[in-house]
Amino acid sequence: MIPHPIQQTGPSPQRRAPGATRRLSRAERGSGSHRGRFAPSPTGDLHLGSLLAALGSWLCARKPGPGTDPGAGGRWLVRIEDIDPPREVPGSADSILRSLRACGLEPDEPPLYQSTRMAAYAAAFERLRAEGHVYPCWCSRADLAASGGLHPATCVAKPDPSREPAWRVRVGDAVIEFDDVLQGPQHWHLADSAGDFVVKRADGPFAYQLACAIDDAAPGITQVVRGADLLDSTPRQMFLRRLLGLCDPSCLHLPVLVDREGRKLSKSAGAAAIDPGDPLPALRTALAALGIPGDALRAREPRALLDDALAAFDMAHLPRCRVLTLAEPAHTTADRSAAFPRDFAV
Ligand SMILES: [Zn+2]
Repeated sequence: MIPHPIQQTGPSPQRRAPGATRRLSRAERGSGSHRGRFAPSPTGDLHLGSLLAALGSWLCARKPGPGTDPGAGGRWLVRIEDIDPPREVPGSADSILRSLRACGLEPDEPPLYQSTRMAAYAAAFERLRAEGHVYPCWCSRADLAASGGLHPATCVAKPDPSREPAWRVRVGDAVIEFDDVLQGPQHWHLADSAGDFVVKRADGPFAYQLACAIDDAAPGITQVVRGADLLDSTPRQMFLRRLLGLCDPSCLHLPVLVDREGRKLSKSAGAAAIDPGDPLPALRTALAALGIPGDALRAREPRALLDDALAAFDMAHLPRCRVLTLAEPAHTTADRSAAFPRDFAV
């Protein structure tokens, strides 16, 4: 249980005229060598669950290392994972960026859109193919049902030249071990956990695993902070980076927020969008879930709240679990009485 003693005190926030210049706060001045990222898919608006990942990645990137200048926190980037158009909701990339801005979360560089990175993915895919790491596959889901959905080392279906194949990478007996900053030591045998997995889909797009593996290495990302629902993707992405000769960032998988029925907030009817006009309740809730004490959550302006939260942030206080249950209904724009969940259950 994480207590959430919120008290609203102090004056009302001063509104700044649109376009007015202002001095950047300490929290906004990323300058160090750490580079973190938040990588939403444009499949809907920013909600409490995705805000948790955004804030977690921002806090970890901005927190100065021990013995360094307090203003020497690292840089925070945003990547829009827009390589699967059928799943995307028009306008949601802009909506997510607008909500982040309203929360005081400004990326240090222009957002990277994965839809602009196809040449890099194609080059990586061609390298994998030239080196014999991938093979074409015509297997259907039904073909793989007998092996629990995992693709074995050899195809079940016969080649069908009349249609495009998917392309899978051979995992062989690869074992991937890594130390997650929050979830601890990890040991994954890929044949048992992922099977030979798809890197290029039959309908064209490069798979999430390939795009993410490349983009978390190419722009010099030093740490990946994201939800624990993606923990099982990490060994696949590390495996691809190994094949491609790319460096691994460190990783930290935060617990996933679920509602009382155990549904991820992204799948929950209660997961309303963050209200850009009043982001403070959701910010306080997400920061409390990240272990920020209540006395650091009293500011009444998003950027001041982030400054206070960063000063109080301690990685040791992050919840070391994979799921956090929101004990009260998620913040909704329609029901302000539900805006302050009182606590979480692990
Ligand atoms: Zn196959």
